[in-house]
Formats: sequence, structure tokens, C-alpha cells
Amino acid sequence: MGSESHDSVHIFLFPFLAHGHMIPVSDMAKLFASHGVRVTIVTTPLNATRFTQSTQSRKSSSGLIQIKAIELPSEEAGLPKGCENMDTLPPSSDLGNSLFQATRLLQPQLEELLEEFKPTCLVADMLFPWATEAAAKFGIPRLVFHGTCFFSLCAIEIMKLHEPFKNVSSEFESFVIPYLPGEIEMTSSQVPAVTKTIVSSDLNQLMKDAIESVLKSYGVIVNSFYELEPVYADYYRNKLGRKAWHIGPVSLCNREIEEKSNRGKEATVDEHECLKWLDSKKQDSVVYVCFGSVANFNSTQLKEIAMALEAAGQDFIWVVRRGKDEGIEVDQDEWLPEGFEERMEGKGLIIRGWAPQVLILDHPSIGGFVTHCGWNSTMEGISAGLPMVTWPVSAEQFYNEKLVTKVLKIGVSVGTQKWIRIFGDSVKKETIVKAVSEIMVGEEAEMRRSKARELGKQARRSVEEGGSSYQDLNKLIQELKSQQLG
Ligand code: UDP
Repeated sequence: MGSESHDSVHIFLFPFLAHGHMIPVSDMAKLFASHGVRVTIVTTPLNATRFTQSTQSRKSSSGLIQIKAIELPSEEAGLPKGCENMDTLPPSSDLGNSLFQATRLLQPQLEELLEEFKPTCLVADMLFPWATEAAAKFGIPRLVFHGTCFFSLCAIEIMKLHEPFKNVSSEFESFVIPYLPGEIEMTSSQVPAVTKTIVSSDLNQLMKDAIESVLKSYGVIVNSFYELEPVYADYYRNKLGRKAWHIGPVSLCNREIEEKSNRGKEATVDEHECLKWLDSKKQDSVVYVCFGSVANFNSTQLKEIAMALEAAGQDFIWVVRRGKDEGIEVDQDEWLPEGFEERMEGKGLIIRGWAPQVLILDHPSIGGFVTHCGWNSTMEGISAGLPMVTWPVSAEQFYNEKLVTKVLKIGVSVGTQKWIRIFGDSVKKETIVKAVSEIMVGEEAEMRRSKARELGKQARRSVEEGGSSYQDLNKLIQELKSQQLG
């Protein structure tokens, strides 16, 4: 990768405290470092440990990456002691909003570091709207990282501006997202609560500030590639007027087994065992089922999934957020049909806790991905060239679903209708079986698969030397360098 040295450029990365935000930042750090840029990741001590593990697995560029820990005064913010990310919140608690607010208490420590190191720029999560002002105090440009695609960035802005969900008579009546190319339909029930402003006033204010801070910032970094969504990349830049650089898929910077399995939390399965299991399977024959790091279904829903996987008859790997470190004490029988694991022996692998997702997705035996459409997972599925069953739960996942099913046409929707934080809308066994079969067997499945495969190849080309994301990243680095000189 980038042979020219840019070590006069020093980038501060400041991610929000949730795995879905920290994982792409860790990849981004390695990506910038592989282009010869110095990187400092600013985070809290517990998260710093994970960053150290994931960034040190790339020996060649790890010397350019340092991690600076700052303390989150959790108790002062009304959070339990030791709470440092979404994962350390008590299960089923409603403290997510408190964590959003608590991060504001990090501002003085961040400013001290900015003053001391005077980095070339600060890349801060969109959930830190105050970071633009903090950086400006020291004449440092701030870039925003949202963690989603151009399509969803456009949809979010348009929905906020035009509120089309107010013009329908029921929450299940569909409307077309105005101005967004592609005649994309959705229902009010799928629109994020924060867009409909049916959340606490604190959270409303945070989102308002976040949108405004994008306008005041230097620009936006997007984990996507141009060829995936050219219409929406152009719309975001030219119609909505945002300055943006696409540098993804960032997960593709992980090449070796160790790097691919060292993302986010520590895997609760031995990666070599997992690969051995996959090696014993035929190409494109295994369905991988995982709903990210936040969604957590109740036992009734888990049972429906189990019954569906058995009935669908495909080999599978299913990641279930039930295990020692998930803090949810439940009897196995509560969420698994009786005798399930014995019957599925050799056919299905259940990973309780955390899976080495990218390692699994990249294995040739994986033939389909059942995903909650978090953008990282979606991008990782696209990069692996996989067709998907889309099962959005909350956040901006319903928009991501539309991109996958309606624009890219590489996915089949499982049909969730309601945006519900963490627990999601319920889906019955028969519906799951149908969707899984649709991506795995038949002529249409093959067509979808070959489209997905083409996108996967394009994703790889875009991050290679000369590719669109490679070039955009270089453009950004050059621009920051010239700013520094100027
Ligand atoms: N992930 C993983 N193992 C798991 C669950 C998730 O490695 O068992 C990773 C996944 O590869 C992705 C991230 O966690 O990079 C989840 O981010 P996403 O945006 O998909 O969803 P979120 O967790 O934010 O809902």
C-alpha cells in the first residue's frame, strides 16, 4: 500500500463508545497508517485495550498508531462504575442515552490532548457534535465519521428536512422518500424514533447538534466505495452539498487470519476450529446468521430462529448474544428447542457471544448472510460477495436494507415492519425459512449471488492501488498535508 511517507500528517481518531463505531475506526487507523500517516486513537482505558489488540496485529504499520486513554467519569454521569461502552451497560437498561450525554464530559481531556499534540485533523464520531468546536479552539479541522453509507446519509437528511412520514394516515401506510433517487418506499413504523422526535429532549437536541455540526465541520468520511452507490454519493456531494471522502470498505484492510479475527471483542470460539468446521463444508453452502453487537432478541424470537434454521435444512453458523460475558443469565432450554444442538450436530454451529465475523464471511463455504443491516455488517457482507437476508432492527438499518434489496438487489427482506431498539420486530419461523431459502436455492438465488459476487470484486478493486477508495483516501491525505503547509 501507499509507499509515499506522510508521517508529517497526524490524525486523531475519536470514536463513539460502541463496537459498531469503534471497529471501523480501528480499521481506519490501520488504513491511514498503511498510507504512512501517523494516527492517535483517543478512547477510554477499557476500550484502549481492545484497540491495542486489534491494531497491533498489523505489525508493518503498528508503529505509526498510538492510543491515548482518557477517563469517562461514569458515576458523575449517572452510569454504573466501570461503564465505558454500550456493552458494559447493564442488560436491558435504558442507559444508552446517559452514555450519549456522558461522553460530553470527555471534552476537557480531549482538548488537553489536542493542545499537546496539535494533530493535522480530528476525525470524531457524529455523536460528538461538540468536537468541531473543541478542535476549532486549536485551529484543527474536524472531520465527521457517521459509520453509514451515502444512501442512508442522504435518506436521513431528507427525512429530517421533509418529514414525509407526517403525510400518511397510519404508521404502516407506505410513502416514497421524496427527492431521493430510486423511488424508495418505506413506512413511518420503520423510521428511526429520533427522526420522528419521539425520544427524550436530550437525545433530540444531540441529534440536532450532530446534524448542525456536520455543516460546520471540514467534511465527512464514509465507509463505502463509489461504485457501490454512485447515484447517492453524487447526491450527497452535489445536491446536499456535503464535502465527503469515501475510503471503504475499511474492513478489507484486514488480510491475515489474526487481523480478521481480532476485531471488536475477543471471539468466544477458537478461530482455527471455526475455519476447520467451515473447511469441511461445500462452497456456498453455509448460512451465517448474526445481528451485530447491540440487537439482542428475546427467547421467543431466538426459538423461532432455531426452528427456522432446522427447517430450512441449510448448514449454518448462528451467533447468539447469550453467554457469560453478555450478562444475561438464562437457562439454555429457555431459548433452544429441546434436543436442538444434538440434532444439529455437524450441521450447525452456534457461537454464544462474539464471532470472528469477517473471517467467517470471507470463507468460501459461506453462501449467505442473515443480517440486521448494521452498516459495518452490510459492508462486510458486500465485501465478501454475499447475498443477504435483511432483518433490520433499529438505528438507520431500515435504510440500509432498502439499499441492499431495492437498489443493489442482492438481498431478500425478512419483512420486519417496526423499528424497535435492541429487541426488533418479531418474525415467525415460516417467514425466516422462506427468506433463507430464497437466498440459498434456485435460479433467482444464483442471479443474486452472481450480482453480489461482482460487487465483492469491485469492493476489493476500490481499495487496491488506483481504486476509487484508495484514490479518495490519498486525496484526503494530500489535502490535509497542504493545509498543514499553508
Ligand atoms: N461483530 C463481530 N462479531 C460478532 C458480532 C459483530 O465481529 O459476533 C462485528 C461485525 O463484524 C461488525 C460490528 O461488529 O464489524 C457490528 O457493527 P454493525 O454496524 O454491523 O452493527 P451494530 O453492532 O452497530 O448494530
